[in-house]
Amino acid sequence: MKRLVVLGGGESGVGTALLGKKKGYEVFVSDYANIKDTYKQVLIHNEIDWEEGGHTEKEILSADIVMKSPGIPDTAPIVLKLRKSGVEIISEIEFAFNYTKASIIGITGSNGKTTTATLVNKLLEDGGFKVALGGNIGNSFAVQVLEGSYEYYVLELSSFQLDGIEKFTPHIAVLTNLSPDHLDRYDNKYGNYIASKFRITMNQTADDYFIYDGDDEEISTWLKNNTIEAQKLPFSLFREVEEGACIKNKKIVINIKNKQFTMPVKTLGLQGQHNVKNAMAASMVANLLDIRKQTIRQSLQHFLGVEHRLEKVLKINNVNYFNDSKATNINATFYALDSMESPTVWIVGGVDKGNDYEVLLPLVNEKVKAIICLGLANEKIVNAFGNVVDIMVETHAMKDAVQVAYRLAKRGDSVLLSPACASFDLFENYEERGRQFKESVRNL
Ligand code: ADP
Repeated sequence: MKRLVVLGGGESGVGTALLGKKKGYEVFVSDYANIKDTYKQVLIHNEIDWEEGGHTEKEILSADIVMKSPGIPDTAPIVLKLRKSGVEIISEIEFAFNYTKASIIGITGSNGKTTTATLVNKLLEDGGFKVALGGNIGNSFAVQVLEGSYEYYVLELSSFQLDGIEKFTPHIAVLTNLSPDHLDRYDNKYGNYIASKFRITMNQTADDYFIYDGDDEEISTWLKNNTIEAQKLPFSLFREVEEGACIKNKKIVINIKNKQFTMPVKTLGLQGQHNVKNAMAASMVANLLDIRKQTIRQSLQHFLGVEHRLEKVLKINNVNYFNDSKATNINATFYALDSMESPTVWIVGGVDKGNDYEVLLPLVNEKVKAIICLGLANEKIVNAFGNVVDIMVETHAMKDAVQVAYRLAKRGDSVLLSPACASFDLFENYEERGRQFKESVRNL
């Protein structure tokens, strides 16, 4: 019996353990920290051996194969030891891929993965396919493969997940965009992070498709300097493309293999330029899979987005409140500000991941009437925007931030929570931050 050791007892770890057990492996799960109770129960119920609060080397180094969860860095001592002794280390995505023949749509990028993956999943469901959504979102790929009987998997893929693939190949890959993120895991080299994202296409052949943001300079540069086998299909907001998607006369126009699809931008359920891109990418997938045009149009009309992503919360005294708590970097916040159609009270701040606020200056100048800082350290924000915005208020709790916003916003204005920062100083995670925002708004 082959021994599978799973490092990390979270969603992907437990999923891999279950699939491994079903496929006849002797499985051992080891987590350096604590395993959540719900996952422990699953392991116990399925008679899978596990440990938490540390790694027992002799149990781990005896593995034939190791699945490393995406949260564990390559520099972790146990990973270094495994590498030294030559044990194969893969990701959950790679492991599960071995056990399915279904067609895979893989979606990666710095921003827009969840929105695009959720929309693709909806399009396929509406098109009548048997499809599962997973990976970096919801249930692990491994658990979905265990359940079996799907024709398609739509997978949201982080760079960490792509780092651990060897043969994994999506039939359709989407790269939504690139902006610097998680550089601490990539030797602080943006190039390494970019290379990691492009692993999504490394095993694709000429029968596969690579959909990407044709306006993204980093993507274009990489494609100029590297060759890929897959058929390239760009989408662009600003220029015409022969094969791919673009905007003409305020319509999305998709041309793929002499077939055309059009849809007026204003009929999209999603708001904002970034979401037009996401919609283009998702409808290209739907067109490739020959879903009926009418079905695609209806799905795109009805899809209003995912919670915490530029989510409309309420209109109070003719002021619109938007929850964009998932905006944890500058690029996401850029698009949120860009989508604002009236003077905006902007709630921003949290744990800064090395932000350069300068790119936001023109938008802030044009749209923002007041800034409410919500974080433990707000100095960088105050320095960046002190000269362009007259009103700046520092707060340390969501309730206060929302109340100040309420007082500052006049009829017709907007209030936007788009922090451009991580949430860990004042909140458990971005979901908690978004929920507190919505609750505070509802209590106004
Ligand atoms: P991810 O899964 O990659 O984090 P999400 O769909 O969860 O992406 O969106 C994260 C944040 O980025 C949200 O604030 C959202 O409004 C914004 N966003 C969504 N799509 C894009 C895009 N194509 N470009 C830039 N920002 C985007």
